[in-house]
Amino acid sequence: MSAPLPVNRIVHRRCPFCGQDNHAGAPTAYGNAVWPIKACAGCGFVYTEHAPVYERLMDEFAWEKTSHIESERRTAKHPIRQALSQKMKGFRQKVLKRDKLPRLVRERVTAGHVLDIGCGGGGVLSRLGPEYIPHGIEISRALAQRAAETLASRHGTVIHDAALHGLARFPPGYFSGVILSAFLEHEIEPKALLAGVLRVLAAGGCGIIKVPNYASLNRVIHGSTWCGFRLPDHVNYFTPSSLARMCRQAGFEIDRFRLTDRHCFSDNLWIVIRKSA
Ligand SMILES: [Zn+2]
Repeated sequence: MSAPLPVNRIVHRRCPFCGQDNHAGAPTAYGNAVWPIKACAGCGFVYTEHAPVYERLMDEFAWEKTSHIESERRTAKHPIRQALSQKMKGFRQKVLKRDKLPRLVRERVTAGHVLDIGCGGGGVLSRLGPEYIPHGIEISRALAQRAAETLASRHGTVIHDAALHGLARFPPGYFSGVILSAFLEHEIEPKALLAGVLRVLAAGGCGIIKVPNYASLNRVIHGSTWCGFRLPDHVNYFTPSSLARMCRQAGFEIDRFRLTDRHCFSDNLWIVIRKSA
């Protein structure tokens, strides 16, 4: 049985794309009683109708805890699939050197200040070249502390806060690049966040986004055990179409969104967006 809803510590969400309240509509088959997943009757966007208040993400639902629990759950349920998945990830990064994120930053972002929203322990930022000054925002207290230690020698800043609040502390046009890798699916207010990213980017600056691909074949095949479903962590479920539309509506140009960034055989979507020069 699910625990009763701690109603004072969750937020009810309207569709984060079009604002429609889908409270009366039936949930999809993917969520559960505590964390129902709805497909908006107005625009089709898929999202969780409830989400933990930001404060709960600092410790109670901090990513390093929930991801560890999720990883153990998957290993128990599908030990071979999980082991293979971890091996492939290491193989791609170490043997094939296909670490896509640092490569995209190198190709698309000019030297200067770079911000990683949801920077975790600072792993991505620490892999960027010396031409970049790395900054991070991280809501988990423990991870923000780790990132600050990792990046101490590189003159950047790590802010321990929710993304929107952290973004508000930077001046307009400050960054040549902003990274949202495995973050936008966590954000309760994704449109407000993209507007904030637009504000802090310099003209011509790029945002690099990676999110789970709700339109992936694996989601259709594996249903609710698909790796993109993480409750209550993932609150937005993007398709190639909804991701590009939300970015355009926020005022960005699409800089890169190739077939290799958005095909249905991948569990992830990648998009590079640009603020007009
Ligand atoms: Zn909608």
